[in-house]
Amino acid sequence: MRLLIAEDDEMLADGLGEVFSSAGFAVDQVATGPRALAAARDGQYDLAVVDLGLPGLDGMEVIRRLRALGRQMPVLILTARDELGDRVRGLNEGADDYLVKPFEIPELVARVNALIRRGHARGQTRSRLGLLEMDLTTQEATVDGRPLDLPARERAVLQLLMSAAPRVVPKARLVNSLSDWDREVSPNAVEIYVSRLRSRLAGSRADIRTVRGIGYRLEEIEGDVPPS
Ligand code: CA
Repeated sequence: MRLLIAEDDEMLADGLGEVFSSAGFAVDQVATGPRALAAARDGQYDLAVVDLGLPGLDGMEVIRRLRALGRQMPVLILTARDELGDRVRGLNEGADDYLVKPFEIPELVARVNALIRRGHARGQTRSRLGLLEMDLTTQEATVDGRPLDLPARERAVLQLLMSAAPRVVPKARLVNSLSDWDREVSPNAVEIYVSRLRSRLAGSRADIRTVRGIGYRLEEIEGDVPPS
C-alpha cells in the first residue's frame, strides 16, 4: 500500500509517517499544496491524507484539481476545528472522509484502512475499447495485453478520453485538466499529445477522432486494421 501524506506541521507529518511505515505502508510526505498535487498526480497512491491548511495551494483546491484530472484515489482530509464549517464541503469536492485535529492516531489508521478497503471494493474501473484496455484508477493501459508505456500527460489525456468514450471531451477540458499551478498547458500542446497518442494507438482498433471546433472522441474502429 502506498500512502501520500500532505501535511505542513512537521512534527505531525513525521509522526504519521512513522505510524504508517511501521504499519507496512510505503509513505511519501509533502508539506505544500503544489507538491501534494504534483505527487498525487504523478505517483500511484492507494490513498492520500491531505491537511486542508497547506501553504501554496489549499488542500481543498488540491483535491478539486486531482479529481478534475481523473485521479480517483481515496482522500482523507485533516482539518483544524475552526476550519470545519464550510470546509466540510471538501466532501463534496471529492474527499472521502475527514478528521478534525487533534485526533487519535488509531482512529486515523482505522479510517485509512476502511477507505482503502472500500476503494478496492468499488475498484472495478477497467475500460476497454478495441484492443485498448485501461485501468482508470491506476491509468495503466495495455494494447492487446501488452503494456502501453505513456508519458504522464499522454496518460492523463487517454484516461479522460477513455472515461468519457463514446462522448466527446471538449478541448478546453483537456487544457484545464493538464494545466497545474506552475504550468499552463496550451491548446497546441494538447494537439501534440493527442497526435502522439494516435500514433501509439496504431493497431489497437481504437482511434482518437477530432470533432471539429469541440474536441476529441475515442472510438473503436470497425473492420480490418493494418498491423502496427
Ligand atoms: Ca496546516
